[in-house]
Amino acid sequence: MKPTVMIVEDEASLVTMLRYNLEKEGYNVTEASDGEEAVTVAGETPPDAVILDWMLPRMSGIEVCRQLRRKSETRHVPIIMLTARTEESDKVRGLNVGADDYLTKPFSMPELIARVRALLRRAKPSQSKGQLTFGDIVLDLDAHRVTRGGKSIHLGPTEFRLLQYLMERPGTVFSREELLNGVWGPDIYVEPRTVDVHIRRLRKALNAGDGPDVIRTVRAAGYSLDDAVA
Ligand code: CA
Repeated sequence: MKPTVMIVEDEASLVTMLRYNLEKEGYNVTEASDGEEAVTVAGETPPDAVILDWMLPRMSGIEVCRQLRRKSETRHVPIIMLTARTEESDKVRGLNVGADDYLTKPFSMPELIARVRALLRRAKPSQSKGQLTFGDIVLDLDAHRVTRGGKSIHLGPTEFRLLQYLMERPGTVFSREELLNGVWGPDIYVEPRTVDVHIRRLRKALNAGDGPDVIRTVRAAGYSLDDAVA
């Protein structure tokens, strides 16, 4: 059973490119070119995931997101929001209306595909959780094992969760606070500097071989798993 991914975007050339790449990955693809159509089509045949553009005719992506979350048929469908805006407030707003992930245009197709895969995996926790890959790094979620270039890498439980978090969202820069929330959880109080300690351990473990450093430190911003070196 192929999962169905719905593309909601009015820019025809981008839709064509998304469809081509998603189908190549083995997904069924449905389309809607405006917000109203998106809500109608998704309500009739709920997809397994939605790629939703922010700027749409008739109804904004935000409103589509809200409406999908209100309907019981589409309440739990994972949504990736596409946006051309980069301000942090926009990101927060997008996530507050119920989007599961968000990607700023222009984005790379491998990155989008990785996000779709991660969302679908998280949406179906009962099945095998599978693997995450980034460059020559493979994180096996079932066996709880990490390899790089085929060589086993030993990680502590926090480093494992940290790496998983970064691999599910490659290319995204996370502040220390975001990593604390995402990896340690919002209820745990630890110093933001604790993140640096675990990043350092993770980096050391990953870089024991010959591979390039895949963790990018962004001054005054945080950390990301970098696309450029993958
Ligand atoms: Ca658009």
